[in-house]
Amino acid sequence: MTHRIAIIGLGKIAIDQHVPSIMANDDFELAAIVSGRRATVHDLPSFRTQEELYEAMPDVKTVAICTPPAGRFETVRTALHAGRDVLIEKPPSATLGEITELAALATAERRVFFTTWHSRFNPAVEEARRLLAGRRLQRLEVDWREDVRRWHPGQAWIWQAGGFGVFDPGINALSIVTEIMPEPIFVASARLEVPANRQTPIGAEITFATPDPVPDSRLTAIFDWRKEGEQSWTISAETTEGTRLVLTEGGAKLTVNDELVIDEPSQEYPRIYALWAQLLAEGRSHVDVRPLRLVADAFLVGDREQTDAFKD
Ligand code: NAP
Repeated sequence: MTHRIAIIGLGKIAIDQHVPSIMANDDFELAAIVSGRRATVHDLPSFRTQEELYEAMPDVKTVAICTPPAGRFETVRTALHAGRDVLIEKPPSATLGEITELAALATAERRVFFTTWHSRFNPAVEEARRLLAGRRLQRLEVDWREDVRRWHPGQAWIWQAGGFGVFDPGINALSIVTEIMPEPIFVASARLEVPANRQTPIGAEITFATPDPVPDSRLTAIFDWRKEGEQSWTISAETTEGTRLVLTEGGAKLTVNDELVIDEPSQEYPRIYALWAQLLAEGRSHVDVRPLRLVADAFLVGDREQTDAFKD
């Protein structure tokens, strides 16, 4: 069965990844766009609101929501109430309360709901998870440093409350960590650096805890949006047996004890849509709030420091 699908919010990620991934997947037909600006691609019909879409094209039964997290609650709610199956970009919502409510609504409306975490859809991440299963970690280091001017030029929403700041990319690292960690992980302490003229952090550090810590273990993360030159999206882990895993390039490459074992071009979004087709066929939702919970807890317990004003 081919699913007629519409994209809601035609921004960077929709154009770069969702449009081509949907068009390359025979289980889907990209049927329409919902865009506040009535933007479109491939001459597809474009509607200003979901209501207009559903009125004009009742056979579009599924939507992919690619708007920013703040404000997405109402967008998802409208789609679920209209009886649509819903895939959403990360992070799933601006707050934990919102995603809890949306998951309950999806169940009540008997709709399929998928909170995607694109960075998990790499073979290297799956292999890291397999290798760490049943092990204990002596050390975990997340090093996520990129240049905000290069990756988020002119995106005002990421600096506003609910926009996540450096946790917009950082939550990708946390989505990998929560996927590969062999035991639950939570925030012990955090430090957030917020520019004087912005609402969200430009830098952050987290120290993690586990329920039953390994003696002298150290589990940490650094996120920084001021890195020029070479960018770093690296997660290193060392087990108590001394095995060292390093995921680089956002989860695309894996080395084990300095030997490169996986290095594959990103297939994140094609694999997201392959799973979306499977979830739709099985009528099964997939909702995971763990990465969002880590960010929320960092905001709850983190020391805040004001830093230099940020200019685009
Ligand atoms: P973006 O380029 O700013 O696009 C977001 C789109 O959402 C806008 O073009 C707009 O589309 C719509 N929109 C609705 N309300 C909006 C508002 N209040 N402010 C701005 N746009 C609004 O953002 P993006 O980079 O695509 O990110 C969207 C989501 O995807 C975020 O949750 C982000 O974390 C996630 N994501 C982004 C990337 C990336 O590389 N950029 C990668 C993975 C995931 P219309 O005008 O068509 O309505």
